[in-house]
Amino acid sequence: MLIFNHMSYISLFDPWQSPVCTCPPKYSLNPYTGCGHGCLYCYASSFIKDFYSPRPKKDFLKKVKKELLKLPPGSLISLSNSSDPYQPLEKTYKLTRSFLKLILGLPLNLLIITKSNLILRDLDLLKKLKVAVAITFTTKDYQKKLEPWAPPFEERLLALKTLYKAGIPTIARIDPIIPGINEDESLELLTEVLPFVKHVVTSTYKAKPQSFNRLTKAFPEQARRLKTLYVKLGEKKKGGVYLPEELRRGLIKRLYQKVKEINEVSFATCREGLPEFELNERCDGSFLIKGG
Ligand code: SF4
Repeated sequence: MLIFNHMSYISLFDPWQSPVCTCPPKYSLNPYTGCGHGCLYCYASSFIKDFYSPRPKKDFLKKVKKELLKLPPGSLISLSNSSDPYQPLEKTYKLTRSFLKLILGLPLNLLIITKSNLILRDLDLLKKLKVAVAITFTTKDYQKKLEPWAPPFEERLLALKTLYKAGIPTIARIDPIIPGINEDESLELLTEVLPFVKHVVTSTYKAKPQSFNRLTKAFPEQARRLKTLYVKLGEKKKGGVYLPEELRRGLIKRLYQKVKEINEVSFATCREGLPEFELNERCDGSFLIKGG
């Protein structure tokens, strides 16, 4: 696998060299720096300056066109890990759409991760690409508070259904699960999206100082419990502070059992280090890409 330098737009995906990351080898690409969805729990805001003032990447297409030439055939690109490729800016700049056009016909596999129904605009291109799409579902009850500028649950669900019916391999990400905030809802969300996916990925919230402060301010009634669970009892690992293992196990088990009832849907966790819940070793769902 080629290593790009720190100035490259396409980079090797390697989240904090996490020993519990079970992703297959892949590259990461973000058409935008920062994200306009404003999710309080977002980990990317801890390492990207002015994260919530998103901007398009300079000379994005020109640079990416050159970098694509270095990729070995069959490479997997993940779009995107540190921003949403269909965030509001995409309506104006269309960098994601231009990128999809750029890779038409190239021997590449693409994994798209988004919270936006704007992806349906590009259905014409998605049908021609080797692609799988993951849509994230976090909450219905607290969406305005937790992800203020991201599309609501109903719009994401409609996008998921439309992609599924169009034959695009679909994945639901139920993450992050945050104790006291969406832990009860997560099973309900899963039940609603399950008929329209082939794979489910879930994870619990891993605290970083910035996101933790935002959450405890926005949910003062949960602040005490969150502090006990993360500050007092939490486990410091690469990528943030984890909930105590037994609590994580319990939160994930409920979703795992629900998915296990259905033979055709696989299940994985994201950086939990709990192998008993992996129904597919390629956690990100990229195994669904046809011919990938
Ligand atoms: S959509 Fe993703 S990248 Fe954007 S703010 Fe939310 S969690 Fe962060």
